[in-house]
Amino acid sequence: MGQIRLYIPQRLNIDEPVDLSEQQSHYLCNVMKIKENQILYCFDNQSGEYRCVPVVLNKKHTVLRSISMERPYIQVPDVWLIFAPVKKDNTDFIIQKATELGARRIIPVLTRYTISERIKKERFEANSIEAAEQCRRTDLPEISEVVKFVDLLQKWDKKRILYYMDETLAGDTVAKVFAQADVPCAIMVGPEGGFSTEELATLRKASFAKAVNLGQRILRAETAVVAALSCWQALSGDWQ
Ligand code: SAM
Repeated sequence: MGQIRLYIPQRLNIDEPVDLSEQQSHYLCNVMKIKENQILYCFDNQSGEYRCVPVVLNKKHTVLRSISMERPYIQVPDVWLIFAPVKKDNTDFIIQKATELGARRIIPVLTRYTISERIKKERFEANSIEAAEQCRRTDLPEISEVVKFVDLLQKWDKKRILYYMDETLAGDTVAKVFAQADVPCAIMVGPEGGFSTEELATLRKASFAKAVNLGQRILRAETAVVAALSCWQALSGDWQ
């Protein structure tokens, strides 16, 4: 069995007991069938990851005790993902992959051609927590409220570069742009219908925005998210 990792939404301290939620207790007892004295790895999104053992093990109420620190808290590089939600399963995929690929913040944006408007922040958060547990992040991405394209750009902090993936191939290649990428930055991917002409015109006028092209083939939105974040991490981020 692989390591069991859990996100604990409270500060962990060595030797201090921590009560798990009923849902986490059920998961450990009924799904993972953990035993007394079995080591678990818990992180709190603020101080790091700890080795923990159960001191009370019950499917309704489990208490852990952290016995030592395994790894300190490390934040991923300051790159955000901005994406226009697509169908439910593909949006789940985007949240999971963006978490694994080290997005520090994830912002859903409503553009002219965004189809899915049933955006559930709690679902996004649950997906990102599961992905962070699985991929050994010690931090969680911040999930923002959904924002309209116009508002996003109007309130933009100009010190953060906005790299928008432009399927009209007007931008420079990803290899060129991301080899010289600065942080803080954000990567934005449009919806299945692409950005509208007006949205592209707005982006082209913005001093803080830069068009990026991901090659000759038009990628699905979720593929573009994975491709852009992977290229950024490889060329400018923590894959180096
Ligand atoms: N409807 C558009 C079309 O047919 O031209 C395609 C939109 S694409 C499915 C969804 C998003 O992925 C785009 O808005 C863009 O942000 C990104 N994307 C896909 N392929 C791309 C490429 N080759 N270069 C840059 N961005 C791309």
